[in-house]
Amino acid sequence: MTQQAQAFRVGCHLSAARGFLAMGKEAVSIQANTFQFFTRNPRGGNAKEFDEEDARALAAFAGQNGISTILAHAPYTLNPCAADQKIRGFSRRMMADDLSRMERLAAASQTVEGDPLREILYNFHPGSHVGQGMEEGIRLTAEQLNEILSPDLRTTVLLETMAGKGSEVGGRFEELRDIIAAIRGDLRGRVGVCLDTCHVHDAGYDVVNDLDGVLSEFDRIIGLPRLKAIHLNDSKNPLASHKDRHELLGQGALGEEFFRTAVNHPLLRALPFYLETPNDVPGYGREIAWLRAQRAD
Ligand code: FE
Ligand code: FE
Ligand code: ZN
Repeated sequence: MTQQAQAFRVGCHLSAARGFLAMGKEAVSIQANTFQFFTRNPRGGNAKEFDEEDARALAAFAGQNGISTILAHAPYTLNPCAADQKIRGFSRRMMADDLSRMERLAAASQTVEGDPLREILYNFHPGSHVGQGMEEGIRLTAEQLNEILSPDLRTTVLLETMAGKGSEVGGRFEELRDIIAAIRGDLRGRVGVCLDTCHVHDAGYDVVNDLDGVLSEFDRIIGLPRLKAIHLNDSKNPLASHKDRHELLGQGALGEEFFRTAVNHPLLRALPFYLETPNDVPGYGREIAWLRAQRAD
């Protein structure tokens, strides 16, 4: 494998309040070479005006600092498979607007020498079917993607693995597979999966005792080439608790040894890793330093 493919890409969730360039600088200040951010207030609402100059400034800064991948996270309120058609309409408009912003960021990167932001990812929760049944939830989520995606997108849209809380869609690999299968063939290449370690554990996948087994199940059902990013979170709750409460690395049910194994795993090590632990920026810096020390490059 090439040096490039082996480089450890690690970062955390950062506040987007001060703009794109500010996030790039904050990431670099804690030895991160990628980062995640909310496209807008996670509880919904309007996004800020897109700032082209700030986008170009981030791209230039990314080029100088070895940042090639960034991950945007959709707001939690986005529910593609809501029962209420108005809520679904809101979800479609929000995602369409988010994606157009990511495309503008990609375009801004293309105006900078070397097009530094080569990989722009957009992650969302597949939604909650709220009593309509899993099959209908899957159908509606796929329908939203079919309405919004286009084959020429530079952004890759990621379905996040969920804890299976309440009527959440995406707690089983089969559910993500079925959404992807219902996406139009010419759009399917624009879609991937983000695996959240707290979520899969809470959903009942025993990554602590059998990470190899879980990854081979993922491969069999979804296909490992779809896996584009990892959320690294410990969990406050036991296996199959269906809870989704993140814990600091090493202080929950997953434990330090799991994270050491995960960042070095031959099937995962080339992917970008993101912390979403209950932390402030200096705390993320300590976790990133710890992860870097565990990584055998
Ligand atoms: Fe998420
Ligand atoms: Fe997550
Ligand atoms: Zn979560």
